[in-house]
Amino acid sequence: MSLDNLSDEEKAQFEQELEDSDSTAILLGIHAELQAIRSLLEGAQDNPTERLTCATCGETYPSEKQLRDHARTSHKAPTDMPLEDIAEGQSL
Ligand SMILES: [Zn+2]
Repeated sequence: MSLDNLSDEEKAQFEQELEDSDSTAILLGIHAELQAIRSLLEGAQDNPTERLTCATCGETYPSEKQLRDHARTSHKAPTDMPLEDIAEGQSL
């Protein structure tokens, strides 16, 4: 934002508005913004869409290998079973 085009009177008015701003409200706004960003980051670390869901029992696993291990040991799934048959919602 440039103040170059403002007259002295407009600058003074703008500065006055800044001074009149409730700094607590501004800080609260920043705080709320930070919380929103933090929850987004935490959500990204544990994003349910990134996890694979077992089509048989609904357990979720962070990797295809872990889901395959689970399917093999818990559901006696063959090792060459296609992922879309093991994982729910997979359309490969
Ligand atoms: Zn399962």
